Amino acid sequence: MAILEIKDLKVHYLTKEGPALAVDSINFSVKENKTVGLIGESGCGKTTTARAIMKFVKEPGKIMGGEIIFKGRDILTMSDKELRTLRGAELTIVRQEAQNALNPVMTIGDQIAEVIREHEHIDKRTAWERAENQLDLVGISHHRAKSFPHELSGGMRQRGMIAIATACNPDFIIMDEPITGLDVIVQRQLLTLINDLREKLNLTALFIAHDLSVISETCDDVVVMYAGKIMEKADVVSLYKHPLHPYTQALINSYPSIRGEKKNLVSIPGSPPRLVSPPKGCRFHPRCSFAIDRCREEAPEIREVDGHSVACHIVK
Ligand code: SF4
Repeated sequence: MAILEIKDLKVHYLTKEGPALAVDSINFSVKENKTVGLIGESGCGKTTTARAIMKFVKEPGKIMGGEIIFKGRDILTMSDKELRTLRGAELTIVRQEAQNALNPVMTIGDQIAEVIREHEHIDKRTAWERAENQLDLVGISHHRAKSFPHELSGGMRQRGMIAIATACNPDFIIMDEPITGLDVIVQRQLLTLINDLREKLNLTALFIAHDLSVISETCDDVVVMYAGKIMEKADVVSLYKHPLHPYTQALINSYPSIRGEKKNLVSIPGSPPRLVSPPKGCRFHPRCSFAIDRCREEAPEIREVDGHSVACHIVK
C-alpha cells in the first residue's frame, strides 16, 4: 500500500525572467516499508520535491498544483496547525549540511528532547532520557548529549540530525543527500546506520542522492529526474541492469561501478537546461545521442515498458 502519493505536482520559482519550472507535473508513490531513491543531476528538482512534500517551499518558490497524499490526506490542503503536528512526528526530513540545520546554541541532547516534547506530553527528564537513547541508537555515546554542534565531527552532526528526525518514531523519512560532503569512510558508516535504522524502525523513506552507488545500496525503487520531469521509474535491480531511458543509461555510464566490470566512464555532454526556458519537446534532447526529429517537437509521455515507467519516444 502506498503511504505517499505525489500526483501531478508542479512547483515553480518566480524569477525576473519568468517562472522556472523546477518540478513539472511529476507522479510517483512510495509503498509502506519501502525506500524510493530520487536521482538526477544538481538542479533537476530533487530537493524542491522534498521541500514540497514537507510543504516547506518558500518564496520565490510556489507550489502551483497537484496533490501530495500522505496516509490518505493531502498535505497541500492541511492547515499550519495540522502541518506542525505532522512534521517531526509522522513525516520528517534529514537535510544535507547538518552544521546549518542544527541550532548552534543548543546541545544536541536538548535539540532531540525539544522535538520529543513538541509532539509528546512527557516531562523534561523523560524526554532527556529518550534523547540519550536516541544518541546511543545512532552510534553517538549518550555521554555526548551535552555537546554543542560545533563540538561534534561532521559525521556525528549528521548522526545527530538522524537522531532528531527519528526521535518520535515517524512513519516516513526524507533523506536529502544525507552523506554529501562527508569523507568516504564516514559515508560508509552512515549508510550502514541508515540501513540498520530502516529495518529496526520499519521506516518508509525517500532517499535523495546524485550518487548512484548510494541509491543502489539503500533503495527498493528508483525515480530518475531530469530538468523537473521524471524520465524513468523502476525497481532498483531492473533499473541498474536494464536502464531503458537514454538519460538513465548516460547517468549509469558516467559513474564508476565498484562491483561491476571495469569500464571507461562517459560524461554526459552539455549541461541541464535553464528551467525558465526549457527546450521544446523532450527536455533531454539537446544532450541525447539518440534524439530524432520528433524529440525536438513533442514531449514524450510516460509509458509502461518491461515493468519500467519511461518517458522516451524511442524506447520499445
Ligand atoms: Fe532522447 Fe528522444 Fe528519448 Fe528524449 S525522447 S531521451 S531525446 S530519444
